[in-house]
Amino acid sequence: PDVPVGAILTGAARRWGDRTALHYMGRDIPFTELARESARFAHGLRARGIGRGDVVALHLPNVPEFAVAYYGTLMAGATFSPCNPLLPVDDLAFQLDDCGAVAVVTLDLVAGAVAEAVGRTKVRTVVLAGALGPVDVAEVCDGAFAANGVAFERIGEGQPDEPPAVDVDTARDLAHIAYTGGTTGRSKGVMLPHRNVVVNVLQFACAGSGLVPGLDGDGGVRLDGEQDLTEYPVPLGEGVLVNVAPWFHAMGTIGYLSSLLLAGTTIVSHPRLDVPAFLADMEKFGATALGGAPALFSALLADPSFAERDLSRVQAIRSGAAPLSHDMIAKLRATFSDAIVVEAYGLTEASMGLTTNPAAVSGVRKVGTVGRPVADTQIKIVPVDALTVTDATPGLPPGEEGEVCAKGPQVMTGYLNRPDATAEVLGEDGWLRTGDIGVLDEDGYLSIVDRKKDMLLYNGYNVYPRELEEKLYSHPAVATAAVVGRPDPVAGELPTAFVVRSGEITEDDLLAYVNAQVVPYKKLRGIRFVDELPVSAAGKILKRELRDRL
Ligand code: ATP
Repeated sequence: PDVPVGAILTGAARRWGDRTALHYMGRDIPFTELARESARFAHGLRARGIGRGDVVALHLPNVPEFAVAYYGTLMAGATFSPCNPLLPVDDLAFQLDDCGAVAVVTLDLVAGAVAEAVGRTKVRTVVLAGALGPVDVAEVCDGAFAANGVAFERIGEGQPDEPPAVDVDTARDLAHIAYTGGTTGRSKGVMLPHRNVVVNVLQFACAGSGLVPGLDGDGGVRLDGEQDLTEYPVPLGEGVLVNVAPWFHAMGTIGYLSSLLLAGTTIVSHPRLDVPAFLADMEKFGATALGGAPALFSALLADPSFAERDLSRVQAIRSGAAPLSHDMIAKLRATFSDAIVVEAYGLTEASMGLTTNPAAVSGVRKVGTVGRPVADTQIKIVPVDALTVTDATPGLPPGEEGEVCAKGPQVMTGYLNRPDATAEVLGEDGWLRTGDIGVLDEDGYLSIVDRKKDMLLYNGYNVYPRELEEKLYSHPAVATAAVVGRPDPVAGELPTAFVVRSGEITEDDLLAYVNAQVVPYKKLRGIRFVDELPVSAAGKILKRELRDRL
């Protein structure tokens, strides 16, 4: 449907009413309240002169104020730009300046960075939410916000409960300027109009529920239809998910906020991962699904309290954002024997998602693949050295590896202020080069082999770290592993592993174990045992940092 993003919450509130949308620190927030608060926030922004064409940055963890400010910003016709609340000041200042934010919404606990950064930007309003209750704006940061600070509660005070009537050009007006994870370099601002975001929410909500989207009488998005709901493991309106996937990241905003709310799932929000508390809430709230990045699953399964928890209501496990090893799939299936494991794939440049394995009970899920394209989406594999990709470029046949390219209504319109970077990845016909190496099978299921940028060159041969990582993960003494290249004047790069152990093993024994399973040029040339690996907020191992260590 051609509607702005706010219609997702409007529709969800009409459909799910007083059911709990969000549970946060002992507080239940019904769908209706969330929609009302968001509408008031939208009016409050407009009363301060913030609307269409203005950018509001959200510098918040997963607290209810995030959801209110997100939908409120979009209902006001303004553009949302998320910032990781733990960004170093320089990176925050860069993002706020780059996206031209005029307002920032932050939490008192992390407001220090904002106080330092805003001086260098166009920001004129700083909205402060209190982590533990209303804030005294004058007291936060020694009065640094005295001139432009306003308490979160004040914004919507006395404002109407229904969203403002705003003209939005859904194909052009930007809903998100979303910065890429920065796993491989400096973040870029991905421009996503309302339509792209709404489409991607629907593509995933439908893939997960089997229902088809429509509009209710007043322009809210709804899911409806005649499908057999018993086919889908988490029936609509009964789902509960404990979530730690950050809403400031693509997977969080679309997959773990809007898609869930639209489907009527109650989100129990944890702003940071405290494993025992997460597991306790899964049991307490009767979680019906578990979702996030593979790093979350490793952390949960490794916790001593895991075995004590009754997680028998979990019917679906959804994984995305990073590779899910075969070993982890086997562990998840053995542990949650009644649940299906669904892996999806995407990137910020595609709003969030491009492919998923089917969520229907009878669907064919191919282990180790990231599934098939979601509705209205095409995927083709092209040679890594292809110069351009257009509709006319033939895709490689099934079984042949190359760069994954995608075309669909969820793909970005470009990177903000970066025409050169845009031209590198977005072709004339709208084909996006993902920078991932992948392969399609005969049935159109995609497997991600690795990232192009993570590929190593050993004596002129391509070595994919992920293949070596899979071998490492299959050893019982390996908890986590990442392979990167160590620069070498003769060979170019030497495949080197960083490994977190979960049992006894020596470097020589582990090298012998892995190298017995690969052809000689792919051999691991060294292992460093470490206590932990650097992981991004979205759950990705930061290989850039590992390479720097070498
Ligand atoms: P940057 O582009 O700034 O380096 P980033 O790549 O972390 O940051 P994101 O959009 O967060 O930006 O991540 C998208 C990438 O995550 C994909 O290109 C892919 O490499 C990886 N990814 C996502 N889902 C999966 C998956 N299911 N399996 C393997 N890799 C995945």
